[in-house]
Amino acid sequence: MIDLHDRLRANLDGVRSRIAEAARRAGREPGEVRLVAVTKKNPVERIRPLIEAGQLDLGENFPQELWRKAEELSGRPERIRWHLIGHLQTNKARRTAPLVRLIHSVDSLKLLRLLDDLAADLPEPPAVCLQANCSGEQAKHGWAPGALLEEAEAIASCSRIPIVGLMTMAGFGTTDEEARPAFALLRDLRERLRARTGMALPELSMGMSGDFEAAIEEGATLVRVGSALFEGLDSP
Ligand SMILES: *Cc1c(COP(=O)(O)O)cnc(C)c1O
Repeated sequence: MIDLHDRLRANLDGVRSRIAEAARRAGREPGEVRLVAVTKKNPVERIRPLIEAGQLDLGENFPQELWRKAEELSGRPERIRWHLIGHLQTNKARRTAPLVRLIHSVDSLKLLRLLDDLAADLPEPPAVCLQANCSGEQAKHGWAPGALLEEAEAIASCSRIPIVGLMTMAGFGTTDEEARPAFALLRDLRERLRARTGMALPELSMGMSGDFEAAIEEGATLVRVGSALFEGLDSP
């Protein structure tokens, strides 16, 4: 039986070198791209080896699962940086905001305004990315690109919560090459939102196990990788 630690370590090293190679191919510094290890559905026994290997950016989809794991891992000496990457219902925002470093998936003005209010009472409010639906799939959360631009002023007026960039998901089951137009669209959307608001928006959160290399070539600064890190293990 292969050792769990060895397997996770090898997978992590593999993903890290693929990130570095994709960055170099695009003429970028590997350090410009941050790996968020998506640990959803995996128990903390599988997360600890990643933390021990220095992987401190961890992403979860569901607020309750994030709360539980943050609690279970709270005794560790390392300072874990939690990322919420899935839909946040407004009634879970108050409890989630103090636990996370970055919320990738802010998908409405209502949620953004609520987080902006909550930020006023937090010593270290989380940063947020605005989720855009660049694939046109109905099932996906996020602003349609046109709607995001229409609400640009209202978005920019939320000045207490740091809005650091944009996030998107490519279509389900798409390959690297099929995903690329959605990534290019997000980058273009950032340019237009910058032009309208003057916000810097340094972060582009895009790319998952099946398409992170294309995302990096298109400018991703945050890649959200789950299944490639847990390859070779039984499904959780
Ligand atoms: C699950 C998930 C990921 C990671 O997907 P993998 O294909 O397992 O790498 C990234 N982003 C979001 C929003 C997810 O829900």
